[in-house]
Amino acid sequence: MCLTSRAPYGLPRRSVLAGTLGVIGAATLAACSSTDEPSTPGAATASPVTGDVDTTRPHVILLGTAGGPAWYAKQNATGISTAVVVGDAVYVVDTGDRAAEQFFRANPTGEAPDEQFSTLRGLFVTHLHSDHTIDYFKMFNYGWWAGLQKITRPVEVIGPGRRTSLTTAYQGSQPPPPASPANPMPGLTDMTNSLFDAYATDINDRVRDNRFTDLRSLINVHDIAIPGFDPAIETLETMPDMNPFPVYEDDRVQVTATLVNHFPVFPAFAYRFDTDDGSVVISGDTGKSTNLARMAADTDLLLHEVIDTSWIDELYADNEALRHHLMTSHMPSTELGQFADALGARQLALHHLVPAEPPVERWQRAQENFTGTFHIGTDLAAINLRG
Ligand SMILES: [Zn+2]
Ligand SMILES: [Zn+2]
Repeated sequence: MCLTSRAPYGLPRRSVLAGTLGVIGAATLAACSSTDEPSTPGAATASPVTGDVDTTRPHVILLGTAGGPAWYAKQNATGISTAVVVGDAVYVVDTGDRAAEQFFRANPTGEAPDEQFSTLRGLFVTHLHSDHTIDYFKMFNYGWWAGLQKITRPVEVIGPGRRTSLTTAYQGSQPPPPASPANPMPGLTDMTNSLFDAYATDINDRVRDNRFTDLRSLINVHDIAIPGFDPAIETLETMPDMNPFPVYEDDRVQVTATLVNHFPVFPAFAYRFDTDDGSVVISGDTGKSTNLARMAADTDLLLHEVIDTSWIDELYADNEALRHHLMTSHMPSTELGQFADALGARQLALHHLVPAEPPVERWQRAQENFTGTFHIGTDLAAINLRG
């Protein structure tokens, strides 16, 4: 590991101020630069991560901030994905378009290029829409070449389970026969197994030809068992009233989940990470959610999705049903500030921006009535859980 690949983002704020480690870092960088760094003697490799953040304390890196499976024409925004960094442990929530590449670029714990994925401890999926999962398998398949084989324990992968009934058709329309009729609403374990099958040629080649560790042994996938919910008796209510429940714990974090309001999607989760030095709640896709408000009470940092109210009003002026649907299954920018303030969040950061395109001023409305610290999320911005 070349420690100096951390600079400048990776250098702890107090180390930069003190100078001592910075000097050591620069000297070590010169030693490392012949093998794994572009060589500019004595200069730190520029990190694309932005923000005045103390990396010795828990923080998030917004790997991607765009919502929806769309390439926005005016801005090269990356699909939704967030890294929660606690010391040398990294947890990723959702893996939208180019999430794996962003993880590599961000280098959250300052590893050498071929070791970056060695610090990935957990991957959490909020729901199975493609804008949250399109880079899911790439995290592992490409991560395999970038340190995943050096992990000391399998990556814990946690997300929605299988459904037994199809989503109700929009406004009673007659849909075509479903895709994959034998299992039309697969869960995360199903999806992962299907991807292993789809990539079997590559996986078997690498294990036999390159002597790679079997990729299947490097991850543990868990479908979330929802307390009180029987998959055989599904409810049409996507967000039954509930208390948050634990889904993961190690020596760095405790993670809880709750169901949120992303009608008609079920299940759709939000996650809360509690550390010794602050908490963060990541909303997933949701409209205004009482379950989320309960889970996020007094959190240090709330990362919440948002949709521009004016944009929707203009786009769907002739389709009130669709307008209403979007404004209830996503969070209107005009209502988020009040919502976050009422639950007592100390910081509010917007992500999963719809649309992820200028002008940035459109998001100022989300600050109305919010009295804490406000951030408009941008790709590769870092924020300490406790500001
Ligand atoms: Zn989404
Ligand atoms: Zn969604």
